[in-house]
Amino acid sequence: MEKKRVVVVGGGIAGIQASLDLADRGLEVHVVEKTPSIGGHMAQLDKTFPTNDCSMCILSPKMISCADHENVVLHTYSELESVEGSFPDFRVKIREKARFIDMDRCTGCGDCIAKCPVKVPSEFEEGLSKRKAMYLPFPQAVPRKVTIDKVHCRMMTDGKCGVCKKVCQAGAIDYEQEDRVVEIDAAAIVVANGFDMMDASSIPEYGLGICKDVITSLQLERILSASGPTNGHLQRQSDGREPRNLGFVQCVGSRDAHTHSYCSSVCCMYATKESILAREHAPKVDITIFFMDMRATGKGFQEFVSRAKDSYGVRYVRSRPANAQPANGESGVLVAYETRGLAGESRTEEFDLLVLCPALVPSGGNRQLAQIVHAALDDDGFFVTPDLSRPVDTTSKGVLVCGFASGPIDIPDSVSQASAVASRVAELLTECDE
Ligand SMILES: Cc1cc2nc3c(=O)[nH]c(=O)nc-3n(C[C@H](O)[C@H](O)[C@H](O)COP(=O)(O)OP(=O)(O)OC[C@H]3O[C@@H](n4cnc5c(N)ncnc54)[C@H](O)[C@@H]3O)c2cc1C
Repeated sequence: MEKKRVVVVGGGIAGIQASLDLADRGLEVHVVEKTPSIGGHMAQLDKTFPTNDCSMCILSPKMISCADHENVVLHTYSELESVEGSFPDFRVKIREKARFIDMDRCTGCGDCIAKCPVKVPSEFEEGLSKRKAMYLPFPQAVPRKVTIDKVHCRMMTDGKCGVCKKVCQAGAIDYEQEDRVVEIDAAAIVVANGFDMMDASSIPEYGLGICKDVITSLQLERILSASGPTNGHLQRQSDGREPRNLGFVQCVGSRDAHTHSYCSSVCCMYATKESILAREHAPKVDITIFFMDMRATGKGFQEFVSRAKDSYGVRYVRSRPANAQPANGESGVLVAYETRGLAGESRTEEFDLLVLCPALVPSGGNRQLAQIVHAALDDDGFFVTPDLSRPVDTTSKGVLVCGFASGPIDIPDSVSQASAVASRVAELLTECDE
């Protein structure tokens, strides 16, 4: 009998876990990931709260298991084009964008990358270092196949280069390749397209893009990573010096009626994690976290915050800073804030490096994806889960959701939801067969 198929949109930790669980149940899973590699945001993280386990050490084996599973087909650098029909008879079109590489021939050796003359900011490194126009997004990418970025490739833009084709011993380069649309029948669809980080430069008071020493929390994750742009050395951007003090501003654009009124849910904990890691990398650095309320509601979270205070000397200041401006000269940031309480007063403090924790927002293509799968979004733009007793169902039967696509959520809860999705798909299909 032909295996039933499920399409999973998004190859972050939620999509990977859902795919593994569905595939283990004997279903044929098609993972549709828009970037050249699966992994999502978890691949960018250095460690994970509250245990500070190495993120890649947990994720990488799952990425490989997913790619190697006999019941999983990966469609990376791909997007959902259309969905017709209804549960359990969806007809799905997937657009596989041209990578200009023969995937069967490419060995991922990297000779072409070494010779490519074009450098552009790396998305994976949050713009802190460069990648080539011929690239692997990150060293542990799955699949380990290169991609030509046609917007920046000289051969694609003005026909002058071709060096990658000359050096590729496998004969894998194909400048003429075109997008391919694959059509499959699927019994169910899982939405796991995660989140984006709000562009905090849209709140100019906080100085991102104006002061060199104001960065985002994802940039700090990359700075703290041993495989990141500074090889794990805590450095400020203006002069490469190790900062003497480090400030965090929570709720940048979250819990704010002018931008996003909801709580992004993970920032109190990851700021605490990044503080501990920063102290481990640079034991002399003083750390201050400006916060509104401490939301440490998960297992072991409050203990984690206590450890940051008691063992690492992290200072928590309950205040929402008014602004951050360049200090005198090229380096440093002046942060203006008010202390709370009856004797509240205005203060200005100078930090060598300031880290913003911006709102985490629905993935950019959510509106279009919601239309394609005929499911509703809530006022904040996340997928609606209307029935509390079926928390991974969307408004469209047979379309399930897990991870950040349903609302702000951390990694352990994304994994739980992903496994719940696999059970729910199995339940729906059994009901259907009865
Ligand atoms: C700075 C920072 C630090 C964090 N630290 C921690 C931590 O220590 N511990 C913890 O538990 N959580 C942490 N988190 C939260 C964690 O990153 C999320 O819980 C987790 O990434 C959610 O996984 P996901 O698969 O739902 O989404 P994502 O990781 O966002 O993955 C979604 C995937 O879907 C793909 N995609 C998007 N749109 C489409 C589309 N239309 N078609 C196809 N593919 C698409 C994306 O490219 C991506 O690969 C942190 C978050 C941030 C910002």
